[in-house]
Amino acid sequence: MAKTVAIIGAGCSGLAAIKGCLEEGLSPTCFEKSDDIGGLWRYTEMVEDRRASLYNCVVTNVSKEMMCYTDFPMPEDFPTYLHHSKVLEYLRLYAEHFSLLKYIQFKTEVCLVTKSPSFSKTGQWEVTIEKNGVKKMECFDAVLVCNGHHVEPYLPLESFQGIHDFKGHYIHSRFYKKYEKYRGKTVLIVGVGNSAGDIAVEISGVAKQVYVSTRQGTWVLSRISFDGLPIDMALTSRFAFWISSSLPAGLLHKLHAKQMNSWFDHANYGLQPEDMSFLKEPMVNDHFPSQILCGAIRIKPHIRKFTESSVIFEDGSIVDGLEEVIFATGYSISFPFLDDSIIRVNDNDNNITLYKNVFPPYHEKPTLAFIGLVQPLGSLLSSSELQVRWATRIFKGTSQLPSVAKMEAHFKKTTEHRRKCFGKGRSQTLQTYFIEYMDEVAVEIGIRPNIMRLLITDPKLALKVFFGPCTPYQYRLKGPGKWSGARNAILTQWSRTINPARTRVVQKSTDSRPTIRNIFVLCGLTTAIFIGFYCVRYKPLRAPSWILCH
Ligand code: NAP
Repeated sequence: MAKTVAIIGAGCSGLAAIKGCLEEGLSPTCFEKSDDIGGLWRYTEMVEDRRASLYNCVVTNVSKEMMCYTDFPMPEDFPTYLHHSKVLEYLRLYAEHFSLLKYIQFKTEVCLVTKSPSFSKTGQWEVTIEKNGVKKMECFDAVLVCNGHHVEPYLPLESFQGIHDFKGHYIHSRFYKKYEKYRGKTVLIVGVGNSAGDIAVEISGVAKQVYVSTRQGTWVLSRISFDGLPIDMALTSRFAFWISSSLPAGLLHKLHAKQMNSWFDHANYGLQPEDMSFLKEPMVNDHFPSQILCGAIRIKPHIRKFTESSVIFEDGSIVDGLEEVIFATGYSISFPFLDDSIIRVNDNDNNITLYKNVFPPYHEKPTLAFIGLVQPLGSLLSSSELQVRWATRIFKGTSQLPSVAKMEAHFKKTTEHRRKCFGKGRSQTLQTYFIEYMDEVAVEIGIRPNIMRLLITDPKLALKVFFGPCTPYQYRLKGPGKWSGARNAILTQWSRTINPARTRVVQKSTDSRPTIRNIFVLCGLTTAIFIGFYCVRYKPLRAPSWILCH
């Protein structure tokens, strides 16, 4: 008998979970509280209770080739960055292509998950579900929690003095949908994450004035980089990651700041992060700086206090006639169906103890896994998918977890590493580098690309894998779940990226592909000279991990 797995949520992680279970011969049942798939990516006009909520103008900040599942490229005619409706369309295509819908029970809410009386022997879980007002309990061999972490708004009103005296209107960004009601108004947005950036830009087109308050500042990135290529494809390569992880921290931060300021000087726009030693998730927004330049958005420091109709900032400046406040202050991780003895989220820093962001280390049996509880500087879809491929192998017994002590030590080490790289803020508790995290999970499954071997067997592909963007297909080149289309998907990724924008054919003396190649050659040569100089002047570079591995 195949082992049974309960999957909680049919968003992008839940869909990957169903497919992952099927691939490993497990028997999945997915419970979805609403009446449709898509989770966060399914926009509705009204905010639904305990379901993530999008505003209408959301466009992905990861490009389509970097964002997709590992064995399912997005259609060629999809734009490079997707409106939320296109992401949902992609998820529907995925669910249909792999026949996933039949495993989902819609309008079924998971109310409680507890260990079965025989847990220490069987690892089984009792899952209480509610459908049409009727509750029942079912027993499963394993559980995959895929309920997302952008559901519970974080709104620390107690830290905003005077907010209860404020006579205007305030909301959390979760409740923001459209801009119309802000027409002609004076609006304050608190925070400078991606929600704040999108909402500020949209409202600033119609409001009287938009102010954005930040405690620490942020870097802002354009979606477009050299030659009009998507920035994540240009920057997220194994080669670039190897170089950057080999540089001394001080030098890395200087180069990072230089690169970030190459678009515009963040200090002049009031945005420069206070502590530049952290590489926190940047705001990805093409319009934010231009709206500042046009005066439609004004950046302000942290808030000292609110009065009935104004806000006073820490620098003593005052905005009178304030009518609307939007707290874009982020989200808290929460699992309403699990009690603290199963998993505990630290309310202060929004942190949670998980081995490689997936397994709670303390249970007698490794039959509970959390999927999508990671914030890679890259795609969540493929990260979730890899987590599922690993978790299902643990459930099946084809892979094993290390001892509790080893998992604890690993969690401690990665937490320190994360704090050193990204800072201690509650928005950064799930932050990881995309390639570093993907490789760390891939090693567990035996699917991490082996560049040295590829160089011998398929040099053309090896160069693309090492110097080109680290697209998710790299994790389908070998090992369990190998996909025969992975090589071709990698070789054709640039045409799927560039072609959708070519809606009017223009004759060019040279094709843009050689230009892309020139960029890589130029980057390669410059870096080789730089490394040579660095090795002679200072100390040898650390051996890259892809040489140490395998
Ligand atoms: P977020 O990234 O967690 O940002 C929260 C912001 O609120 C930060 O600037 C934070 O400042 C500030 N903040 C928190 N507590 C505060 C307090 N007590 N006082 C003042 N400021 C406070 O939240 P988000 O922008 O909603 O984004 C959530 C996730 O969704 C992110 O991963 C984001 O990238 C993603 N997202 C993506 C898109 C897109 O794809 N287009 C759009 C929106 C969101 P500090 O930095 O000082 O802590």
